[in-house]
Amino acid sequence: MTAFGPPIESDAATAPFFAAAARDELVLPRCASCGGWYPPEVTICCGALEWAAAAGHGILVTWAVVHTAPHPAFASLLPFRTALVELAEGPWLQVRLVGPGEPAAGCPVRITFAHPAEGASYPVGTLEGP
Ligand SMILES: [Zn+2]
Repeated sequence: MTAFGPPIESDAATAPFFAAAARDELVLPRCASCGGWYPPEVTICCGALEWAAAAGHGILVTWAVVHTAPHPAFASLLPFRTALVELAEGPWLQVRLVGPGEPAAGCPVRITFAHPAEGASYPVGTLEGP
């Protein structure tokens, strides 16, 4: 996949997420006490959060077509779609939406990964069709 946007730099808190993305794996925080799953940015629950392997698919909740670059590095790629995907485990993940076909709420989405030459690998959503 071609480069998209500015390079992503991981830090200590996000390194496990982006290391998994580099292996084409989606991981999410999961509470060791209650078993709850969370989106990547969540850091607290009733027990320790541990990165756990997620199924890597979900359904499309909503999307938007971006016509104005939020950063100069996106300018040559306009327009593109951004979406919220409800993952099989429950959390919502914001991703760029790729693939043929017209999006519709409830469409199945597979999480795939972009591996830019610079910066961290990251998840994208691929429409699987109605
Ligand atoms: Zn918990």
